[in-house]
Amino acid sequence: MNKKEMKKMKKELSYENRNGWINSDSYKSEAFQFAEIYKDFLSQCKTERETVQFVYNEFTNRKKEGDFLIVNRGKNIALIRVGKKDGIKLVASHIDAPRIDIKQNPLFEDTEVAMFHTHYYGGIKKYQWFNIPLAMHGVVVKENGESVEIKVGEDEKDPIFVIPDLLPHLSHKVVDEKKVKDAFEGDKMNLIVGSIPIDKEEKDAVKLQVLSILNEKYGIKEEDFISAELEIVPALNPKDLGFDRSLIAAYGQDDRICAFCSKEAFFNAKDNSKTIVALMIDKEEIGSDGNTGAKSRFLMDVAIEVLKAKKETVDFESISNFFRESEVLSSDVNGAVNPMYKDVHEKDNASYINHGVVMTKFTGHGGKYMANDASAEFVSKVRTIFNNAKVNWQIGELGKVDEGGGGTIAKYLASWNMDVIDCGPALLSMHSPYEISSKTDLLETYKAYKAFFED
Ligand SMILES: [Zn+2]
Repeated sequence: MNKKEMKKMKKELSYENRNGWINSDSYKSEAFQFAEIYKDFLSQCKTERETVQFVYNEFTNRKKEGDFLIVNRGKNIALIRVGKKDGIKLVASHIDAPRIDIKQNPLFEDTEVAMFHTHYYGGIKKYQWFNIPLAMHGVVVKENGESVEIKVGEDEKDPIFVIPDLLPHLSHKVVDEKKVKDAFEGDKMNLIVGSIPIDKEEKDAVKLQVLSILNEKYGIKEEDFISAELEIVPALNPKDLGFDRSLIAAYGQDDRICAFCSKEAFFNAKDNSKTIVALMIDKEEIGSDGNTGAKSRFLMDVAIEVLKAKKETVDFESISNFFRESEVLSSDVNGAVNPMYKDVHEKDNASYINHGVVMTKFTGHGGKYMANDASAEFVSKVRTIFNNAKVNWQIGELGKVDEGGGGTIAKYLASWNMDVIDCGPALLSMHSPYEISSKTDLLETYKAYKAFFED
């Protein structure tokens, strides 16, 4: 065999994944344009409620005839297009992201500084949240049921909030010498919200000043916080990253990058013969529990509404058939290999930035525990769809065996007897206040979901 033949054989027989930027200039400009729409979406959707509202509004303008949606408690949304043939194609993402939540009785004053008590949400590295600009998003529901929306820290003229860190000069014993996981205590992650006393003599005069401002601006009193959901998120807007602008730095990309791609794929999918659903779920970052998480029966509503729209009988058998015939991309992100920390990955089964959308057969940890393990048959099907549509894809296991691991909503969806595989782009700095994605991976993820819907 000569060199040329050997090269040919290697190309034919080997599995390779490639860098998405090895493409034409027109590809690059397509990816860059698509990224602009994505960045705008991210800057407007910093909470699950805001994402549902945004997608809802967009649906009104972009829906095709017969399309419908279901909203669950303002935190889940399903976009549905009923097809003529049997079979359901579902792309399911989650729209909650790691953040800092405000406690129920948050406001206190200490050493004449007014602060909010917080409780962090999801898997964060606590030190990343100290001394960065933070914004407050959410709702306060008053005793009479009136819902007051609060959004402070996003407008250029708005104030922001900060969780104060300790100066290096004095942090030697209480922070620096401890293990990182012990050094930054969740209970100390309190937010500065004011410092002017309302009166010279009154006790807790700074706290009272804050209450009076809140009352004037929003008509709320202290007890109203008991029935509020206020989320603290980075007051940082999405930005291009790098001299070549190939990457995007932004908050909340896990997993709104998949939600964005799934809705774009839904709106742009050609008329297909099967039923397609873009599903957006809450509470993934805290175990998928609650009535808006993947473990809730919201999926049952989706099944029933589709059956009703198809004018089919709704009974136990038809619902069971609906799920058995469903094919699902659990659209969630993976952790891309960080060049400075390659050792936590096994290179042949890791995912790389710019190398396309990632298919993950199983997540979980230590001996595949807690994993949805997609069947070989289903993986083959999805791989074929992607290859036929010329999608740049790669595989990705989350870290070396026994290095750690993680989960997604895949296993909860699979428990309904659906075929499920994890599929989404790989991020750098996942779960940080400023996560990093790639513009080619964004475009390939969209192309993958669209091809899946159109199959
Ligand atoms: Zn995720």
